[in-house]
Amino acid sequence: MDADLLAEITAGVEKSLKPYREGFAKHEFLPERGMDREEIIELMQNFKEMEAAKWKEGFVSGAVYHGNEDHIDFMNQVYAINSQSNPLHPEIWPSTTKFEAEIVSMTANMLSADQTDDEIVGVVSSGGTESILLAMKTYRDWARETKGIQQPEIIAPTTAHAAFSKAGDYFGIKINRIPVGEDFRADVEKTRQAINENTIALVGSAPPFPHGIVDPIEELSELARENDLGFHTDGCLGGFILPWAEKLGYDIPPFDFRLPGVTSISVDTHKYGYAAKGTSVILYRGAELRHFQYFSVADWPGGFYVSPTFAGSRPGALIAVAWAAMVSMGEAGYLKSAKRILDTTDWLKEEIKNFPDLQLIGDPPFMVTIRSETLNIYQIMEYMTERNWGLSGLHLPPSVHLCVTQRHTQDGVKERFVTELKEAIAYVKEHPGASEGMGPIYGMASAIETRGMVTAVFNWFMDLLYSV
Ligand SMILES: *Cc1c(COP(=O)(O)O)cnc(C)c1O
Repeated sequence: MDADLLAEITAGVEKSLKPYREGFAKHEFLPERGMDREEIIELMQNFKEMEAAKWKEGFVSGAVYHGNEDHIDFMNQVYAINSQSNPLHPEIWPSTTKFEAEIVSMTANMLSADQTDDEIVGVVSSGGTESILLAMKTYRDWARETKGIQQPEIIAPTTAHAAFSKAGDYFGIKINRIPVGEDFRADVEKTRQAINENTIALVGSAPPFPHGIVDPIEELSELARENDLGFHTDGCLGGFILPWAEKLGYDIPPFDFRLPGVTSISVDTHKYGYAAKGTSVILYRGAELRHFQYFSVADWPGGFYVSPTFAGSRPGALIAVAWAAMVSMGEAGYLKSAKRILDTTDWLKEEIKNFPDLQLIGDPPFMVTIRSETLNIYQIMEYMTERNWGLSGLHLPPSVHLCVTQRHTQDGVKERFVTELKEAIAYVKEHPGASEGMGPIYGMASAIETRGMVTAVFNWFMDLLYSV
């Protein structure tokens, strides 16, 4: 890729990510005197109005999973009541402890904890990534303690979330990524061949983020059990919707604690659990495993210190919000919401099958993943981006997906998507040289010789976010 093209892309990114550089006051230093509260509220209301339309009107993939006005108002009310609470001080806020324990219990039972004789335990974390990091650290410490493994390895499909690689990076665990099969599901045979004496755990996703197709968790978890390994189901995305899809009669492969080999599950309250952003649940089979997650120190001058997750102080208010989301939705609420989302997905898939230029990847229950054998899918995506859509761009193979949420079940949204997709196809056919947006970056990222350059682009991107 040439420097001009890179400059063009970076200029476009900068413009879209820093729209308030003009026309708004900058705060590089603390203001000498505090700003008026009304002024702050007005500023934020302004930002909110400019930013809400995109997700509210269902233009984006995933991101906001519920988003109805009355639901948000209720969450905000719950947050306000609990804003001072911190579960680091359970003696001051025992209500937060109650909420957290009940979130864990309700989530575990939603994932069939009541159908096994083993005790299923867990904690509330700050999000899917933290749940995954915690589980990987737990397996590392478990394997070191019980098996003496000093150079731990985890085997995960290529499609398992980036957070597994992050865990490997942070905790000195080798993550052995196994290519998925032609059906985009984890390859059980290749996983079996990859097991060695340093393997501590296997991973599967229900479903993985890229294509939304549930891995063969039953086979993978049995493989783990035969080899006395941990098995983690990443249910971050699907954990709060697949159980309801199953109840609604969808063919959902088993992934939860009904499978005896599954020893941990991550599941995000802040996705299809419809809580505010900042909570997830990590569940374990057996209290012993959870003990490897805990941290405690007895000889610190600050006194006895115990902490279940990476954070010290934690936002008790977000735990209260997650609890309130769950008990206010109830089974009936989750079922109703799941039905709308799954119906919308089914409708979209049927419509997209009518476009000979597009191919669906698999048949995931709440996602449409699209590629094209005849057109450049990134040009299609770019056209949609210009029409205000925020689809997720994927690569290996080049494709895009729409993760369907309650926002897309509103009147007219799915029809608008299909209409504009049709226009995008027509446009790209007429203008085969149209802009690819992020396409070249994806292309570059797949080529080994340009990987250093990609890291440079990523670093530039993150530095940009931190510039005022
Ligand atoms: C979202 C997601 C994660 C990570 O969750 P965060 O809350 O973004 O940290 C992990 N796995 C899957 C499958 C996900 O969709």
